[in-house]
Amino acid sequence: MSTSAQIGVTGLAVMGRNLARNFARNGYTVAVHNRTPTRTHALVEEFGHEGDFVAAETAKEFVAALERPRRLVVMVKAGEPTDAVIQEFAPLLEPGDMIIDGGNAHFADTRRRERELREQGIHFVGMGVSGGEEGALNGPSIMPGGPAESYDSLGPMLEKISAKAADGAPCVTHVGPDGAGHFVKMVHNGIEYADMQLIGEAYQLLRDVAGFSPAEIADIFRTWNTGRLDSYLIEITAEVLSHVDAATGKPFVDVVVDQAEQKGTGRWTVQIALDLGVPVSGIAEAVFARSLSGHAALREASRGLAGPKPARLGEAEAAAFADRVEQALYASKIVSYTQGFHEIAAGSEEYGWGIDLGAVSSIWRGGCIIRAAFLDRIRAAYDARPDLPSLLSDETFAREIADAQDAWREVLVSATLQGVPTPGFAAALAYYDALRAERLPAALTQGQRDFFGAHTYRRVDREGSYHTLWGGDR
Ligand code: NAP
Repeated sequence: MSTSAQIGVTGLAVMGRNLARNFARNGYTVAVHNRTPTRTHALVEEFGHEGDFVAAETAKEFVAALERPRRLVVMVKAGEPTDAVIQEFAPLLEPGDMIIDGGNAHFADTRRRERELREQGIHFVGMGVSGGEEGALNGPSIMPGGPAESYDSLGPMLEKISAKAADGAPCVTHVGPDGAGHFVKMVHNGIEYADMQLIGEAYQLLRDVAGFSPAEIADIFRTWNTGRLDSYLIEITAEVLSHVDAATGKPFVDVVVDQAEQKGTGRWTVQIALDLGVPVSGIAEAVFARSLSGHAALREASRGLAGPKPARLGEAEAAAFADRVEQALYASKIVSYTQGFHEIAAGSEEYGWGIDLGAVSSIWRGGCIIRAAFLDRIRAAYDARPDLPSLLSDETFAREIADAQDAWREVLVSATLQGVPTPGFAAALAYYDALRAERLPAALTQGQRDFFGAHTYRRVDREGSYHTLWGGDR
């Protein structure tokens, strides 16, 4: 076996196979390996003409095929399989070699693996990859963490295979040490959940309050996609809504069971946010909305509960309502991203990662599922002020929300009066109003805590902690 491959990929299901092809199409010699060798041979048979592949049946052959220092990309099922693969390969590697985990690992696992492998002198790079199978093949957004020196040799290769933003910049950067890359990928997915939920709420309002058909709503989304909401998710939503089921002739969306599934990265985003004390209410509502949709028996048992009498808007009012929904969606989206970036900033602070938030928004501009014109604006906000405390402190975003807020509130009033659930829009508005409030009822909460548990409180007019001797028998 020659030692000529510049990179190796083990794990050749959809993601690994396409990533390997992407490297090969960009002129790299790629060693390929899979636990079940039939996948390896199938890849070379089917796509061998696309570039230079070295098929390896065993771990030893695979490692021997790689030039030094070795760069070995692992694209297997996240969790135990990743540990199994690391245990298989690590003893065959030498100091300075690199294991790059491109799966959707939990960042805490990545931190542990990085620490363990560092003791052997192996560089472990936890690498978030977004864009699904199409992105893996044609250019994903890539979020590598791990030791900074690993990026010196790995970075240029990733820059070649990554998506490019409209200005030509590669959608990859060294995010930060150890688990930083997987952390940022996790929050990316959390924001993706929130974006999808908000789009779903906009759709439901346009359908149930304004009375538009799925095909008409697809057209509305297409129009929105030419404006500030221009994004991959809005674009594919229009495609899904205009799709007609071949078997029944009905709108596709009406023949799909309305129970959303999830793989876990959205849930992790919320779990970690709870640990860090960061309010990501929009992402949390998106995760809960998916869970709620899946409780079929509970939903069935609740169908008879009272609700308002439906009162659809007339044709003349419907167009104006659609415009207000666009404003509510845009304002809520700003809030979701504000919350997601807050979580990244908090994670970076907690783990000492030094993540550049502007660079993160920059690499999400192409290749990934949440790619959107909007991210250029976020980058501009962080470029103008790297220590921006919150996206809502940026003048442009603050002004846009100010312009949208009346419509946002009116949409929520309509949703409430018509009984259309809009937890994402509502959570976003509540977050916005809570942040701008002069006084919050947290003062009362502190009073209650002091009353029943002597937890003490701070005063607005004096330093120190206080406890009141409440009356009664307590
Ligand atoms: P997958 O279904 O998550 O995993 C299948 C691959 O893992 C196969 O190559 C399988 O080998 C291998 N595998 C499973 N258990 C193993 C073990 N114990 N030892 C060695 N290999 C094992 O594949 P995928 O959808 O291509 O995703 C790969 C990774 O990318 C995952 O971590 C996923 O979360 C992440 N990811 C996926 C997407 C997406 O859109 N699908 C997007 C971003 C990231 P065999 O062929 O031998 O079974």
